[in-house]
Amino acid sequence: TNFEEADLEPLLLENIKMSGYRVPTPVQKSSISYGRAGRDMMACAQTGSGKTGGFLFPILNESFRKGPSEAQGGDGRGHYRSRAVRPIALILSPTRELTMQISEEARKFCYRSWVRPCVVYGGADIVGQMRLMERGCDLLVATPGRLVDLIERGRVSLSNIRYLVLDEADRMLDMGFEPQIRRIVEKEDMPGVDERHTLMFSATFPRDIQMLARDFLKDYIFLSV
Ligand code: AMP
Repeated sequence: TNFEEADLEPLLLENIKMSGYRVPTPVQKSSISYGRAGRDMMACAQTGSGKTGGFLFPILNESFRKGPSEAQGGDGRGHYRSRAVRPIALILSPTRELTMQISEEARKFCYRSWVRPCVVYGGADIVGQMRLMERGCDLLVATPGRLVDLIERGRVSLSNIRYLVLDEADRMLDMGFEPQIRRIVEKEDMPGVDERHTLMFSATFPRDIQMLARDFLKDYIFLSV
């Protein structure tokens, strides 16, 4: 089957084709159909499986279909003096290189849409990143430590998050990011499991990853590719 048969939003389909993709990988096919059904997902998938599209396609398909006002769905009150951005999608990833790769993919798939991707990572000038965020940030790709910093500075609010992705979760734990990840996901303004759609990717599924999945996902589909 090719992407035409996946019944995607026309603009997303066009952008996917412009990226040179013709056929969805198995993880992409599954995530598109489970995403449409609104199911959380835990996928054991390696780099090279197409897992980036695996989380971007269901998020963007639904966001393009809904449009900005329905997708954001916030109350719009009391925010006008705040400098915080309110992304609808948050993708946590372990390294600068990975966040940059994800945001480059996202940029291609978001072309000519209302969704503005944005990337932040540690070890780089935070002021420059804050300025870029202010130009628009609907889909935020972030390393956990830098995101905690930006939240504490009042620059990111999680209240509009509808999609949460933990990419390469095993690597994030190996790098010692569990406290930061828990701080982000358990923050009081982060919508709960019933209000968001959560996708987790990991190459392995050891006990600590199983615990994260138990704590952050709801009724999830387990996929191994
Ligand atoms: P990932 O596993 O997401 O890191 O993707 C691995 C590589 O495969 C990247 O270079 C992607 O651009 C490419 N890729 C992902 N999905 C597809 C697809 N459906 N068709 C062709 N190339 C793809």
